[in-house]
Amino acid sequence: MKESYFVDENGFYGDFGGAYVPEILYKCVEDLRKAYLPVIESEEFKNEYHALLRDYVGRPSPLYFAKRMSEKYGCQLYLKREDLNHTGAHKINNTIGQILLARKMGKTRIIAETGAGQHGVATATVCALMNMECEIFMGKTDVERQHTNVERMRMLGAKVHPVTTGNMTLSDACSEAIRDWCCHPSDTFYIVGSTMGPHPYPDLVARMQSVISEEIKWQLQEKVGRNYPDYLVACVGGGSNAAGTVYHYLDDERVKIVLAEAGGHGVDTDYTAATIHRGTLGILHGSKMLVMQTPDGQIEEAFTISAGLDYPGVGPMHCNMAVKGRSKVFAVNDDEAIYAGYELTRMEGIIPAIESAHAVAALKKMSFKKDDVVVLTVSGRGDKDVETYLNNKDKALEYGKF
Ligand SMILES: *Cc1c(COP(=O)(O)O)cnc(C)c1O
Repeated sequence: MKESYFVDENGFYGDFGGAYVPEILYKCVEDLRKAYLPVIESEEFKNEYHALLRDYVGRPSPLYFAKRMSEKYGCQLYLKREDLNHTGAHKINNTIGQILLARKMGKTRIIAETGAGQHGVATATVCALMNMECEIFMGKTDVERQHTNVERMRMLGAKVHPVTTGNMTLSDACSEAIRDWCCHPSDTFYIVGSTMGPHPYPDLVARMQSVISEEIKWQLQEKVGRNYPDYLVACVGGGSNAAGTVYHYLDDERVKIVLAEAGGHGVDTDYTAATIHRGTLGILHGSKMLVMQTPDGQIEEAFTISAGLDYPGVGPMHCNMAVKGRSKVFAVNDDEAIYAGYELTRMEGIIPAIESAHAVAALKKMSFKKDDVVVLTVSGRGDKDVETYLNNKDKALEYGKF
């Protein structure tokens, strides 16, 4: 039988995935598992979801032919512009879907974890829209270094809880959100921000983000006369923008999948978030995945210049694709990402999120034929990262004097 990279009926992607949750959450996760497909496949849900994506988020996002970059890399490069969505990234595709699901399930209180604050802002935004109570868990370190996003969440009416356990970053925020969920299992819906967490979350989030590849299909048909590219390129943190980008091409072997994870200072150093290169099989936040851990199973801290990729694990769908060779994963170091961010800015007039710049940097590690059609997802806009770019401008000096 032909290999499938979608989730199986038990919630696994090969050896990865599953639902490893404490007894007290079993019912919550089971209720969600039973509810999610009937709800999201209903006409009522689809109508509401797609109307909001169109009128509120601003979809479809453009598929833009990047002429100068195409010439430079010797291919036909198209950018999928998730940076143009309301709130500035792909995250809102997922939070809109999950909050509609939460309402259908009769939940009244929303919680979420956030690292850089992008998922927190996207969650607080839809909670304001739907008039729902919203509490966000965020590591204290991130609260300090992502202050603007914290203020945005507060302005939107969310309560932000600084988390002071562990390294006080994303991984600790996830643990704290799960702890809160254990205390309020009946009224609370946990909006998970990426293709991680216990089944059905990875599949749920992938489906909510799959609007990206659904659009790529008809947009390519219009622009190049066939509905599939030769290459898809995306960055991967937990894996949601990448999952959305590849979803409708997952089992289509004509399409090569190239992903960029955060190398930090380098995969061979202690300062890295390259989980697919460095991780080993483990369980983190309810799911079996590749995790950066010590030989005795202590979770190691991830390190990267990009707050949105700063997580010691990676979603089960991507673990499975990588170990089976369905995807080719490059580790992109901080300086390569900075350089690529400047390059896209100067060549196309698009300042990408530093996360998305990792995907752009992967182009340098690939070789193309002139006619190859390449679709690269720009997962978010770079306004939040301007200071980081400027503080590191020496890494892209050839793009001029500042
Ligand atoms: C959160 C974020 C990411 C990383 O998350 P994924 O789930 O891997 O997509 C990438 N880009 C941007 C702009 C983000 O906000």
